[in-house]
Amino acid sequence: MSFVRTVLGDIRSDHLGIVYAHEHVVIRGEFIEQNFPDFLLEDLDLISNELRELKSHGIGTMIDAMPLDSGRSAAHLVELSILTGMNIVASTGLHLRMYYAPGHWYDRVDGMFERAEEDLLGEIFVTEIEVGMSDSGQASSAKAGVIKIAGSLHNLTHLEKRIFRAAGYAHRLTGCPILTHTEQGTAAMEQVRILQDAGVDLSHVILSHLDRIGDLDYHREVLSTGVRLEYDSAFRWGAKPNQTQALILALAPEFPDQIVIGMDAARSSYWRSYGGKPGLSYLVETFVPSLIDAGLSANLVRKILVDNPASAYSFAGGRG
Ligand SMILES: [Zn+2]
Repeated sequence: MSFVRTVLGDIRSDHLGIVYAHEHVVIRGEFIEQNFPDFLLEDLDLISNELRELKSHGIGTMIDAMPLDSGRSAAHLVELSILTGMNIVASTGLHLRMYYAPGHWYDRVDGMFERAEEDLLGEIFVTEIEVGMSDSGQASSAKAGVIKIAGSLHNLTHLEKRIFRAAGYAHRLTGCPILTHTEQGTAAMEQVRILQDAGVDLSHVILSHLDRIGDLDYHREVLSTGVRLEYDSAFRWGAKPNQTQALILALAPEFPDQIVIGMDAARSSYWRSYGGKPGLSYLVETFVPSLIDAGLSANLVRKILVDNPASAYSFAGGRG
């Protein structure tokens, strides 16, 4: 039976309920506080209120996309999961360089090892997946269930390529799924090729934010490789036509098993419990009904919300 690794342990993939596929449940730490104050998400009462509202709409699982050292808190995620009953999958991996303080070891990914640096960085990810996560030296027994990595606009940097190969190494050993950040939806094919060359099972790779780009042929090219695409701009179009909706209506019938959705609501100003809008329930309260009104079948809605994320975020056959 395939499984998904949550902060409270492994659960069967068919027990996830509706999955929010790229979320920010907790973001904290000194660097974030000083540089990205609107990103701070650390009030457990307010966060719990929003998660309970989501639970009442049938959302059973959230994928937290803050990796190692970038504002993650395994301890907070564990506490929230216990408080609310929400399944939470936490990330290992590394984010964009901008989320790390000057002097962070990110800059030494290249130079700190003589050889096989990807494998040694990959071993850090493996430890987080198989033993437990560590935030600022605080060790937790909660394990990471996804490897989150990030690529820059148009081209990956030298260090990002190394980090992608390290993620490939950890995936080969553990079967852990990989979630990537694309900057404005770009460089998706470069990301896919590096992971493919590293021996990654592409059906367990989820690329985020491609709905920032409307070109259907670009999406088809990427989807043809077998990866999953995560669309999360549904609430960001304002008065413009909803490009996220248009993409799903066009592509879900062609690639029924490869699209997942999320909110990526990394600012407290998007959370209802923090006094913001539209609130995390937007996806199920407003966006999904709009897809159904526009003619998307119940079967495809179920695949996008439940079945596709369940198979994408399952562990591939690995040692653990
Ligand atoms: Zn994100």
